[in-house]
Amino acid sequence: MKRDKYYIPIIFVSIISIFMLGVISALPDDLKEFYGDNYKAEKSITEGLKKEEVSNSENNLNDEDVDDNNSMNSNSKDNNSKNGDSKDNNSKNSKSKDIESKEGDSEESSSDEGNEKSYTVDPNKPMIALTFDDGPKSGVTDRILDDLEENGGRVTFFVIGRYTDEGNNRDLIARASSLGCEIGNHTFDHVELSKLPEDQQIIDQVRATREKIVEITGQDTVILRPPYGSVDERCMNLINDPIVLWSVDTDDWMYRDPPRLLAYIMENAYDGAIILMHDIYSETPDGAIPAMKLLREQGYQLVTVSDMIEARRGEYKHGVKYGEVTP
Ligand SMILES: [Zn+2]
Repeated sequence: MKRDKYYIPIIFVSIISIFMLGVISALPDDLKEFYGDNYKAEKSITEGLKKEEVSNSENNLNDEDVDDNNSMNSNSKDNNSKNGDSKDNNSKNSKSKDIESKEGDSEESSSDEGNEKSYTVDPNKPMIALTFDDGPKSGVTDRILDDLEENGGRVTFFVIGRYTDEGNNRDLIARASSLGCEIGNHTFDHVELSKLPEDQQIIDQVRATREKIVEITGQDTVILRPPYGSVDERCMNLINDPIVLWSVDTDDWMYRDPPRLLAYIMENAYDGAIILMHDIYSETPDGAIPAMKLLREQGYQLVTVSDMIEARRGEYKHGVKYGEVTP
């Protein structure tokens, strides 16, 4: 009988343990994603440090550059934050940043300065606009952003209005914008605009998405990529925005084949090209990120559509379709 007394607490503890396991595994997806984000934030800081150590001896920066880069970093961190819990993570990050700064001010910003340098658009040098439609998507868009943050360059994302509030999409869009990427309009419901019977429907599809983008990024956007590239005279007259089409269609959504995507981009890349991809398939960054590396090595500037138009044509024009922006 005495033995039973020992079994009771053991059984009790076991039941509690099983219950707790159940609670953790039932965490909602966005919480799991949040923990994933924290992991990535920490990882990128560690990787940044490694890179900074390597390039330390090559760069001497003045204080102004350091300040600019620090504020840029803190912006992107704010955008990563989702709720009260993430504040802890942010303060932890800023603490470790302080330590880094004390240990070596020039180290702190050398890789960021590389980012800035790589994004001075020179109209006389080759440039290319990579564009990603239908996103953002967690685990896809953030990988493209991680690469741009580390290695420089900017791209354009055409987002669908109705998905902007899903999951951590707002954070992804805000982060892309804070990294200097362009957020373009891809209609609210991914509809074929020219098939909408009412004029007001066309206007609303564009307006509602534009409002979402402004709400999230604080920046207005006028460029529109109509789904399926479908616009007719009526749409053009109603919308009167710059229409961004493409000159290289990778068909990434159909093949979902990273080596094919990489090869296709490299075979078809040219100065002024606008390349169409979709940041909703994990295979797309698998092919696009190595392509971005090779394009940089070949001397291409990775630029947003609007920056390419501005560098080559001055102001973009309303009611004009842009498929490429050659010198
Ligand atoms: Zn689309």
